[in-house]
Amino acid sequence: VDNSLMDYRPPITVVVGHVDVGKTLLLDKIRGTFVAYREPGMITQHIGLSFIPWNAIERIADPLLMKFRLKGKVWIKGFLMVDTPGHAAFSNLRRRGGSVADLAVLVIDITRGFEEQTYESLTLIKSRNIPFVVAANKLDRIYGWEPHENAPFLDSYEKQREDVQGRVEEAIARIIEEFNKLGMDADRYDRVRDFDAQVPIVPTSAVTGEGLADLLVVLAGLSQRFNRDKLRITYGPGRGVVMEIREEKGWGVTADVVLYDGVIRKGDLIVTAGLEGYVSTKVKMLVMPKPLNEMRDPEDRYMFMDEVRAAAGVKIIADGLEQVVPGAPVFVVPQGASLDEYVKLVREEVSEVKIETDKEGVVAKADTLGTLEAMVIYLRSQGIPVRKADVGNVSRRDVVDASIVRKKNPLYGVILAFNVKVPHDIEVEAMQYGVKIFRNEILYRLVEEFTQWYKEQKT
Ligand code: GDP
Ligand code: MG
Repeated sequence: VDNSLMDYRPPITVVVGHVDVGKTLLLDKIRGTFVAYREPGMITQHIGLSFIPWNAIERIADPLLMKFRLKGKVWIKGFLMVDTPGHAAFSNLRRRGGSVADLAVLVIDITRGFEEQTYESLTLIKSRNIPFVVAANKLDRIYGWEPHENAPFLDSYEKQREDVQGRVEEAIARIIEEFNKLGMDADRYDRVRDFDAQVPIVPTSAVTGEGLADLLVVLAGLSQRFNRDKLRITYGPGRGVVMEIREEKGWGVTADVVLYDGVIRKGDLIVTAGLEGYVSTKVKMLVMPKPLNEMRDPEDRYMFMDEVRAAAGVKIIADGLEQVVPGAPVFVVPQGASLDEYVKLVREEVSEVKIETDKEGVVAKADTLGTLEAMVIYLRSQGIPVRKADVGNVSRRDVVDASIVRKKNPLYGVILAFNVKVPHDIEVEAMQYGVKIFRNEILYRLVEEFTQWYKEQKT
């Protein structure tokens, strides 16, 4: 073993895509299939993430590793897969200038091709510069497909009838064509010549397990090639991001945090961000789930840690977390360092997302810092200017801001409310001002409703 390689953490891998394409089942299948092979003692559990050790993957992937001359060359120790797929979870994995996610799997239903949220996910992946692979899932739904449980795609494909192979190729060609329309190049992964320039497509089935080995081998390849610097661990003060804030019986309000660098310890002073500004507090407890094989009853689910090292998903228990926003950074303030310096870091990160300009543009409101950032990125990708972007329910201030814009440009004097509430009195007030409020829980629908209205008003 080469010791210089011991300082790399496993890549954090998100699974994204349109609803019902099989993201959850794909993760379950990966966990179920590969976890069944893993050695006792290797088991580590996380909050919101699950660790898939490479040595468990290796056995199933062996023929592919030989074929692609990767055998013995994989130095990543496994993947930390994000268990809570979906737009909000991915959005909240933000960090300054990018994402906490090192890799992404964009899942597409092979029988349906691109769908609305495929575009939305792709916008976010690209804007955050994350290496990604396409899982063209539900391969078993291709008419005439003969399944081979857990086989690599390439092996199973060779055993299919010619007409079935033809249908697979047609489906892949349709996906490639969609990428081409977006000015991107893509190909079936084994035909990709240049991973810098082409998106690899791996056909998979979350039901039969076919293609999972191929998917993980491609991810390992991408990670080793593109993530090397990002994966190097420092043992300095911890840095992470808040995935979720939730109330837990007996513990009060807790923060589920993905730690992507450094170390966090019980008793550490941390700084993070809330709706009204920064929050500094002392870590009272650090909690992680117990390994499955050591869990005796449901009450006995957790371990209390003195310290946790990156990369990890960990629950933090501390005072003052109730006003913290998901998507906010979390920094450990090292002993002897100035709190102000870290508060400044947090402020800078937050002000990168919360925008306020004098420009004519819409008012954007979202429930978390991550979803807000995703919203602004998406609005801009659609050519919609943003005057103000902020976290929280629609307020009086927002109505006033939109009404000011409305005087200059009625088409942009609106509020787009993504996943947030509009209190009744605010709604009444907005009506009096003639400010239209659009709201939806799905980003592309929200933007579509607005653009539809915009077009109608213009004509
Ligand atoms: P998500 O919304 O992307 O998380 O999708 P789910 O994992 O919940 O899957 C949506 C539906 O598609 C469920 O009924 C799954 O059983 C089904 N499904 C997912 N993957 C596959 C697959 O590879 N093959 C087939 N036949 N069905 C699948
Ligand atoms: Mg799901």
